[in-house]
Amino acid sequence: MPLHLSTLNLVAAPVSLQEGLKILERDDYKCRYCGLDGRATFDNALMMSVDFVVPRARKGKKDPANLVACCRPCNMIKGTKVYKSFDEARAFVLAQRQGLRKKWEEKTSTTRAKSAAN
Ligand SMILES: [Zn+2]
Repeated sequence: MPLHLSTLNLVAAPVSLQEGLKILERDDYKCRYCGLDGRATFDNALMMSVDFVVPRARKGKKDPANLVACCRPCNMIKGTKVYKSFDEARAFVLAQRQGLRKKWEEKTSTTRAKSAAN
């Protein structure tokens, strides 16, 4: 492990550091939604968190079966909605990311086109 994560507050408070690290280890420090590799860079490491597949707010259990490694952006996109399964949650998050990417690409290409015209 290139970065000792236990020295940083990377894990959401509801899960203890030890519990969180177990989940991150199990999932190889990769976001289970988008695949972001938490070991690739320091910045990526800072993004890693642990997600409750069924949110705590919806009585999701603090059970390894309900916990996945997750980057903060995916965690935010997923929100507290309840999904039928992890796969459904993942499909939702990836579709949202795709939509955001499209908007971002349109916006940045407009900006680029404008600056090219000047
Ligand atoms: Zn992610």
